[in-house]
Amino acid sequence: MLDTCGREIDYLRISITDRCNLRCVYCMPAGGVASFAHGDVLSYEEIVRAVRLFARLGVRHLRVTGGEPMARRGCLSLIERLHTIDGIESIAMTTNALLLDGCVAWAREAGLDALNISIDSLNPDTYRAMTRGGDVRRVLAVIDDALSLGIKVKLNAVPVRGMNDGDLAELASLARERPVPVRFIELMPVGCGAGLTPVPSDEVRALLERAYGPLTEDGTRRGFGPARYVRAAGFAGPFGFISPVSHEFCDRCNRVRLTADGFLKLCLNHTAGLDVRALLRGGSSDEALLEALRAAVAAKPRRHGFMDEIGDREVRRMNEIGG
Ligand code: SAM
Ligand code: SF4
Repeated sequence: MLDTCGREIDYLRISITDRCNLRCVYCMPAGGVASFAHGDVLSYEEIVRAVRLFARLGVRHLRVTGGEPMARRGCLSLIERLHTIDGIESIAMTTNALLLDGCVAWAREAGLDALNISIDSLNPDTYRAMTRGGDVRRVLAVIDDALSLGIKVKLNAVPVRGMNDGDLAELASLARERPVPVRFIELMPVGCGAGLTPVPSDEVRALLERAYGPLTEDGTRRGFGPARYVRAAGFAGPFGFISPVSHEFCDRCNRVRLTADGFLKLCLNHTAGLDVRALLRGGSSDEALLEALRAAVAAKPRRHGFMDEIGDREVRRMNEIGG
């Protein structure tokens, strides 16, 4: 499916819940937030129908996210159903991993190909403070279980000034023995992230070079995302940088997002999109839905414009959008 800028859109991120077992400082307020009412969230039947239609339009790769996807009951059964849809070639999940502890083998059997695991520090105190309560040892257990079962794993950290900026080299050491990319996502000024100070990717790269010596560019394409990768001598996995603010990658964007309440978001930072839930529940035929999805995706904004004054800036939090 092509948009009007000529970009091939073959990747759909589906947020299946806005709820979460954690309260990361850049994502959710400490006291939590009012969640969507149960009836406002797409049912698994509705998600499966929507994905069947997206697959007919050329979507090949899915990512299940949240909130915390594993916090919604039946998440792995949903993955099992998505896995059987014609045209879908891969299913990944973005997760904090805590609720996968002990059920990684089941996830593998359900058809999960890849996991992006969020981990902001190896220091148990920093991790607990940034997530407001998580136990990093359980995350490490899931990483090693997943690798032993042949699931592709990528690690994601959000560097935040004054919080984990002193722990980043230690975190990167996870890639020394393990063939996992350790990726640093620039803090985005969205939702709770707006009140915190990012650490620019170039600064993270410089501190990794001080710790591990010269980094060489690694041009290998890993997955479908916008990360740039580098390698340190003697490391099994690369380091990655996802820098939406300082290195905009909108011209290569290949994705759209379905929020937990069934809104098709065309760009992270714009409110533009389509109320898919209203169509699904309003009795639209598959043909009418296909036409509406095609028209919406065609109108995907050209750029996120994080640093610009844009008229329709997104006000949803990341736990609603899914990252
Ligand atoms: N709960 C899952 C997790 O944490 O991986 C999936 C949902 S979470 C919203 C998806 C990703 O968004 C995580 O990697 C998280 O670190 C990232 N994220 C959340 N808020 C962010 C922000 N303001 N800036 C950059 N990344 C953010
Ligand atoms: Fe939950 Fe993920 Fe947001 Fe952290 S980043 S609060 S784990 S949804």
